[in-house]
Amino acid sequence: NIQATKTLNDGVKMPGYGLGVYKVWEDDEASQSVQTAIQHGYRLIDTASFYDNEVGVGQGIKESGVNRDDLFITTKVWNDEQGYDHTLRAFEASMNRLELDYLDLYLVHWPVKNYYRDTWKAMERLVDEGLIRSIGVSNFKQRHLEDLMTTANVKPTVNQVEYHPHLQQHDVKAFCEQESIQLEAWSPLKRGDLFDDETIQQVAQKHGKTPAQVILRWDVDTNVITIPKSVKEHRIVENSDIFDFQLDKADLDAIKALNRDERVGPNPDQFG
Ligand code: NAD
Repeated sequence: NIQATKTLNDGVKMPGYGLGVYKVWEDDEASQSVQTAIQHGYRLIDTASFYDNEVGVGQGIKESGVNRDDLFITTKVWNDEQGYDHTLRAFEASMNRLELDYLDLYLVHWPVKNYYRDTWKAMERLVDEGLIRSIGVSNFKQRHLEDLMTTANVKPTVNQVEYHPHLQQHDVKAFCEQESIQLEAWSPLKRGDLFDDETIQQVAQKHGKTPAQVILRWDVDTNVITIPKSVKEHRIVENSDIFDFQLDKADLDAIKALNRDERVGPNPDQFG
């Protein structure tokens, strides 16, 4: 089932599969892709104030015809919005753009040095006020998580990091598993850079699936929430059609051997 629901460490239930909308800069296109995904059964939508499409995402949610309470909406506080007061204002602005009265998951987008602890305090307050159901982080390494947890009252529920067969994040993944922090994959498809890989193609052929489906199924089978981005209906459908097969040990071993610790995005170390 496409929801592949996970229970986070605060008890909130989160779909294990969803749609990402980074670089969908036009509100109309964002609205359309959100509606298309929801029509095809997606319930988790991942945006950010940085993506500049919260208005379109909010429209798509409203026009989808699905109850707000049946959807799971994530947005993120951007780097120049961090700090206690600034985060409170940034959250209000995001909610106004999304036209929502509560948010399911709010993430610290990057671990900006000297700021993320105060950002977190503001997010804890927003949970207390009933405006956010669950709070987490993104792009946090183990040292950032350990540091945050020295002053946090609420433990992060999710850590959203770049994760794909070329960047398997063994260290942060093991730490998050130990701490019951759910890992979530961004750029799960490495933005298209993995489809020509021979191993991925062989596994795809073996299961009668596409390379994209094998990569996304690998997320599910390694216990990582995944949010592939597409604005094309046939790919939105293709990417979610991964719940009728499973990777076996030979497949998992073969994909494990593809790790190169190679990123498409920035290394979190440059933020602090
Ligand atoms: P992705 O790995 O999801 O790749 C998206 C691209 O792959 C699309 O633009 C499309 O060209 C191609 N594609 C998608 N499905 C395909 C298919 N079935 N066949 C062929 N090509 C296909 O990359 P992404 O958008 O960077 O990551 C997904 C989401 O993660 C984002 O939209 C965003 O929501 C989130 N994200 C978060 C952060 C962060 O810092 N937290 C950073 C980047 C992205």
